[in-house]
Amino acid sequence: MSTLVWFRADLRTRDHAALHAAALEGPVHALFVACPDQWRAHDDAPAKIDLILRSLADLRRDLAALGIPLTLLSVPDARDVPDAVVRTASALRCRALRFNRQYELNELRRDERTLRLAASVGLRAVAHDDQTILAPGSVRTREGKPFTVFTPFKRAWLAHLDDRGGAPVLPAPAPRSPLPPPPDAMLDPIVSDFLDAGLPAPDRARIAALWPSGESEALRRLRAFVAGPLARYAADRDRPDLAGTSALSPYLAIGAISPRQCLAAALDAATGLPASARAGIDTWISELVWREFYVHVMAAFPSVVMGRAFKPETDQLAWGHDPHLFDRWSAGRTGVPIVDAAMRQLLATGWMHNRLRMIAAMFLAKDLFLDWRLGERHFMRHLVDGFFASNNGGWQWSASTGTDAAPYFRIFNPISQSRRFDPDGAFIRRWVPELASLDSDAIHDPFDAKLGLAPLARASLDYPPPIVDHAAARDRVIAAFQSLSGRSPAAAPPSTPPRSKARSPSPG
Ligand SMILES: Cc1cc2nc3c(=O)[nH]c(=O)nc-3n(C[C@H](O)[C@H](O)[C@H](O)COP(=O)(O)OP(=O)(O)OC[C@H]3O[C@@H](n4cnc5c(N)ncnc54)[C@H](O)[C@@H]3O)c2cc1C
Repeated sequence: MSTLVWFRADLRTRDHAALHAAALEGPVHALFVACPDQWRAHDDAPAKIDLILRSLADLRRDLAALGIPLTLLSVPDARDVPDAVVRTASALRCRALRFNRQYELNELRRDERTLRLAASVGLRAVAHDDQTILAPGSVRTREGKPFTVFTPFKRAWLAHLDDRGGAPVLPAPAPRSPLPPPPDAMLDPIVSDFLDAGLPAPDRARIAALWPSGESEALRRLRAFVAGPLARYAADRDRPDLAGTSALSPYLAIGAISPRQCLAAALDAATGLPASARAGIDTWISELVWREFYVHVMAAFPSVVMGRAFKPETDQLAWGHDPHLFDRWSAGRTGVPIVDAAMRQLLATGWMHNRLRMIAAMFLAKDLFLDWRLGERHFMRHLVDGFFASNNGGWQWSASTGTDAAPYFRIFNPISQSRRFDPDGAFIRRWVPELASLDSDAIHDPFDAKLGLAPLARASLDYPPPIVDHAAARDRVIAAFQSLSGRSPAAAPPSTPPRSKARSPSPG
């Protein structure tokens, strides 16, 4: 009798809690259930689904080498998934079912139903915590409450990690003699229909070249990052014109690599280094903790999964829904070069640099005063690394509606951000070719009266003037936040945003 391991957002063989536990008990069968209905409901990007499907081929090969056959099912209706899983366990004569928890509300409900159904037919079913380094709910304030601010969360998280003696990485199971392969181990045409509709073949080839699939690719990228850019991460991570970050987020989102493996690699790299040489490593570990923070917040406050603002009073703001403004933003035609470059990077690659995610998100919510949920959904629909907790956390941070949000009067000036983080304009030149010939002063704001182009040169540009005046937009959004009930005049913003120690940290 064997155990069935149900793979979901954990497409790897190493450091996999459910797989590790199952293999200690005996032979293992593996299962993956594709559910286009659920992908649609969750706005999963075709690029992300494409990465998942390609990764399943790698996972099947890696599992086969361990003697574990992988069954692939496609289930059209999300409500039928628990039944399909339990039926598969019984068809394969498995005595137990194991899986790693996901913490989004629908997934939690689906898993509850699966556990109940398994119990009703006498199938032992076990859920493991594996998606984060420390399980949601395990890091709490002295009063036993969930943290809602990053810095104290991080302090408590590090202390908790220390108390536990770290987060060991589990090995892949030892190879066994293979179980017979399952019948029909192919995904049904509804899966390819979903992809064909969202990602035409040329785009698919481009995405596949940018994001090769599989656990070994993820590990290769981790090693390359640790051996190279990690040392300079503290200095380079905010520069979209440099390859200063790991670009591991797609692999973390689908679980081709675990956050524990990332942490272990960073800690290994720190061994023997003086504190003064650890800035890059410490900063990168902080980013892994931001990921933890948002998953812990989502698990503790499920209302964020239901489209609500973490700060309920901000749902009273009259966010706009102007389709014209939204289309200009999403197509990268706002007339603000750094925002447009960012949005075009997203459309072309399925990925966007963290600094740019903050700039583009804040531009939508604060400069355009559009409902941040429109932007959140657009990101999910295009990101190859779409991960609900981080996406929602990042959007609510940028819109000042969230847990550890930017204070409402902290509004990025996109042009200053552009000059600071893309100083030569190299990133803009790459993604906004209409501006490629501009010098590194004019490129950030071609229509600026002082540093921009002369009126004649502007007229010949195939590029629009900005769709919004930043100063006026800033005043409008600050007034809107101030008009919320309960906002005291003492909370009124200074005319320039403060840069004191009391600022909330930015996620990245
Ligand atoms: C509006 C907005 C939306 C976002 N949407 C997503 C999303 O859907 N999926 C996603 O994985 N990240 C999201 N992020 C967080 C962050 O932008 C990405 O994780 C990061 O850009 C990925 O690049 P990287 O792998 O090179 O990161 P690195 O800088 O190498 O960091 C390593 C890992 O740490 C985690 N991480 C880094 N920064 C953050 C952060 N600010 N918040 C949470 N985790 C972080 C990621 O897992 C990342 O892969 C969003 C941020 C914002 C502001």
